Amino acid sequence: MSPRLRVAILGSTGSIGRQALDVASRFPDRIDVVALGAHRSAVLLTEQACRCGVRHVALGDPDAAAGLSGLPAGTARGVGADSLLELAALPDVDVVLNALVGAAGLRVSETALRAGKRLALANKESLVIGGDLLMPLASPGSLVPVDSEHSAIFQCLLGEPRAALERIWLTASGGPFRTRSRSELASVRVEEALAHPRWTMGPKITIDSATLMNKGLETIEAHHLFAVAYDAIRIVVHPQSTVHSMVEFSDGSVKAHLGPADMRLPIQYAFSHPDRWGAPAPPVDFTAVGHLDFEPPDLEKFPCLSLALDAGRAGGTLPCAMNAANEVAVEAFLAGRVRFTDIDSVVETVMATHATVPVSSFEQLERVDAEARGLAEQTAREIAGRTA
Ligand code: MG
Repeated sequence: MSPRLRVAILGSTGSIGRQALDVASRFPDRIDVVALGAHRSAVLLTEQACRCGVRHVALGDPDAAAGLSGLPAGTARGVGADSLLELAALPDVDVVLNALVGAAGLRVSETALRAGKRLALANKESLVIGGDLLMPLASPGSLVPVDSEHSAIFQCLLGEPRAALERIWLTASGGPFRTRSRSELASVRVEEALAHPRWTMGPKITIDSATLMNKGLETIEAHHLFAVAYDAIRIVVHPQSTVHSMVEFSDGSVKAHLGPADMRLPIQYAFSHPDRWGAPAPPVDFTAVGHLDFEPPDLEKFPCLSLALDAGRAGGTLPCAMNAANEVAVEAFLAGRVRFTDIDSVVETVMATHATVPVSSFEQLERVDAEARGLAEQTAREIAGRTA
């Protein structure tokens, strides 16, 4: 029996984090959860720490620290953004699952890779913003994607000659508004946008899936992860979400990854790789699937997707500014301050104003992120003022 995998879960109170703890609870002889970190859900974090008996706990937001009372004696406790980074570099950790939301995850990814950990990456924004800096820090097998499409592509590429990769087919469910018109989108309510037809996810990524921004972020993520040109990545809408993505090779062969639409599969694979463990979800019954549909994405109805693709192709600091604007706009929509269709207006305004330069450092990216957030906040306020 090989020693148990020692895991740190950052973002343990979010959707991915909770599902990762579920995976860990199914394999107590294979996984030892040693550290848990969260941004601000202190009460749930404390509950999880008690249940799993972890040795280290960190909370990013000092204002929420009061909720950490009740931790078992002997649990090391850190508060503040740096305490999350400390968990990512702990000597008694083998795998860091980065399931934080948004740009806040960038430094955790950097720290885990620098410390020589396996990085199980659910925080796609890390690569969108800092792919130019992070990928040179990764060694073969040290960065395993948790995003379902990228896990699928990663698995399709195993055992294949790298030079034979011709194209990536990135599948998209199309989100809850696939069949609505652009004019109908202006009036969608927050609850409608949060009702994703296929996947159970946190609020930020669920809104990104409804605007198709998520597929734009994932295209940039794939570009960095698999070192493929943007022209070699095709997006295809596949409403059943049974095919999780495909890879086309130079001889015309296409490998697809299929399975249940359950995030525990890619989470578990990021732990078990290169091995496979027992299934966390019921298998797909193909006799009941009936048919699998594929169609092109509608870039006019979902401008966030074309904006993200433009940012990716331009490269440099533009994806960082674009991502920051999107995070602010999504928060404003979730808070009821702007309309669904204002999200792309905010992103577009910030992108049009940003002076793109090559990425040179993590500090530079943090400055660009902060600046873009400021402008996005201001733009969202102006839009809210006009439509009030
Ligand atoms: Mg995905």
